[in-house]
Amino acid sequence: MRTIETDILIFGGGIAGLWLLNRLRAAGYSVLLLEQDKLGGHETLNANGIIHGGLKFGLSAMLRDIEDLDDMPALWRDCLRDRGDVSLGGVRVLSEHQYLWSEPSLAARATTYFASRLISSQVESVEGSARPDSFQDPAFEGSVYQLSDLVIDIPSLIQKLAGPHKNCIYKISQQNCHLETDDRHNTTAVFITAAGMEPLRIHPRRVILAGGRGNQALLEDLGLREPPMERRPAHMVLLKRAQLPPVYAHCLGSSTRPRLTITSHPTRDGEWVWYLGGELADEGAQRDDRLQIEHAQRELKELLPWLDLRGARYKTLKIDRILPAGEQRLFKPDNAFMEIRGNNMVVWPCKMTLAPNLGRQVLAQLEKEGVKPEHPPLEEALPLLYPETGQPAWETLFD
Ligand SMILES: Cc1cc2nc3c(=O)[nH]c(=O)nc-3n(C[C@H](O)[C@H](O)[C@H](O)COP(=O)(O)OP(=O)(O)OC[C@H]3O[C@@H](n4cnc5c(N)ncnc54)[C@H](O)[C@@H]3O)c2cc1C
Repeated sequence: MRTIETDILIFGGGIAGLWLLNRLRAAGYSVLLLEQDKLGGHETLNANGIIHGGLKFGLSAMLRDIEDLDDMPALWRDCLRDRGDVSLGGVRVLSEHQYLWSEPSLAARATTYFASRLISSQVESVEGSARPDSFQDPAFEGSVYQLSDLVIDIPSLIQKLAGPHKNCIYKISQQNCHLETDDRHNTTAVFITAAGMEPLRIHPRRVILAGGRGNQALLEDLGLREPPMERRPAHMVLLKRAQLPPVYAHCLGSSTRPRLTITSHPTRDGEWVWYLGGELADEGAQRDDRLQIEHAQRELKELLPWLDLRGARYKTLKIDRILPAGEQRLFKPDNAFMEIRGNNMVVWPCKMTLAPNLGRQVLAQLEKEGVKPEHPPLEEALPLLYPETGQPAWETLFD
């Protein structure tokens, strides 16, 4: 049996695992990342790609104390200029801003809302030709605001994060990977076996569980039920049509969440897909596909009546958002989640946006525990495959 010593072993190749892989390798740690399915994650590849500022959890953000929160769009912009925590130069920015529009009847409410000290620095009212093309139609009488949020292309982000680390990312399957633990829930070794291959014993000093919804099964392998996770179901709607104008905007509704969120994503066949979320997706979680599409069509007609969407094709995607459950979540709602169990760190970023915050927390924890880089990087590749990179729903659902 071949034994491999590594400083850090990461389970999961979504944003959490890949971000940490980059951060930890840059800090000098030897790191291995194991992915059991496709690279890019499940939630990550199907996220809207919005890097949220203070508005990120909807209007209810103003009720919370978020003054300590790092300015995530600014941190990401630094990374995109190769001057931040992780080098993201070359990642495609789909829109420099996410916008917010309101109907005339809600304009007064929007003004009061944005006047709050938490939000005002991140929002600017935009008029006339400064508005995005889709909101310049004379038929539109509402207000438009520009947010500090930017929108990035997730497939190019995944490529950038994984590309330089091909020699430390490997595909495993649930059946061929086994965790060995002691009675204090430390992961003492990870065994990987497969027909025709010399078994591998990986001996990590620290393990990071970054498996998204897969963390629950990983925790069970460690004999743990905690920390608990919560699944928040969403029913996203996708709309594809030739010459669809790209739109990046939330519609301000009468509740604390955006009534409708639209982001637009290029596809390999040269077209664009609108990806619709917000209240539509949250409240439509229980609707069947047909009812959800009908609901989306009514919303689009009511909220963007000047846009001609005839001939569009519609699909839906049911997907869960994964969050830590219960009190852990409420304790620090605007940070990524990290908790320690033995030599394992259990992480959920809660939002892709919070990946930089997660990276900082993990490095600070290693520093606190006095875990310094010790093992050299692997010299010889492991006899395992590199995982295939996944595709977002807007590439696969319309095939
Ligand atoms: C519809 C939707 C839209 C969203 N939009 C945004 C947005 O615009 N902005 C934003 O900031 N956030 C957004 N989010 C939230 C964001 O997508 C998630 O917080 C984030 O992507 C979670 O990343 P992750 O790496 O933890 O999980 P995932 O992306 O799900 O990745 C986990 C990976 O771990 C792997 N894995 C699981 N178990 C194992 C195992 N035992 N061994 C090895 N690998 C394993 C999985 O196969 C998967 O590849 C959105 C979420 C949803 C659902």
